[in-house]
Amino acid sequence: MAGQSPCIFCKIVAHRFPATIVYEDSDHLAFFPREHLNPGHLLLIPKHHIDYLFDMSAHSYLALWATVAKLAPGLQSVTSAKRVGVAVEGFAVPHVHVHMVPLYAREELNPARATLKDWPAVYGRRSVPNLAVSRTPSGVAVLPRALDGAGYLRR
Ligand SMILES: [Zn+2]
Repeated sequence: MAGQSPCIFCKIVAHRFPATIVYEDSDHLAFFPREHLNPGHLLLIPKHHIDYLFDMSAHSYLALWATVAKLAPGLQSVTSAKRVGVAVEGFAVPHVHVHMVPLYAREELNPARATLKDWPAVYGRRSVPNLAVSRTPSGVAVLPRALDGAGYLRR
């Protein structure tokens, strides 16, 4: 289970590796990746470790994509993106993760565009709450927990 896994995403789920968590429910977590394609680029993962998207149970698979659909309108709204693009490859980390990327033009999902970002340095502690207060039409907060109380990075 997650607590014993060397998987970096399982460590984030177990709060044993810092990440800027922007969404969490009982089965999913979303956070900023270290390398991003555009500001607001999120990774959405199932909390349960599984390597390959198409090895997921039908229930978990549908729940994952339902969560993508819940988060996308809020992400699009707070970033003023024309669209939110999604991509799943899974070569770098063998734990299912959906890239959710605010897009403004074609070709922006190209992984070759990825750049490293130090998110606290990019956003600072004061500007990220602009994202934190945004909500999707379904009432799901995007970035509800990243900045509350304990600070920017959850441990
Ligand atoms: Zn994992």
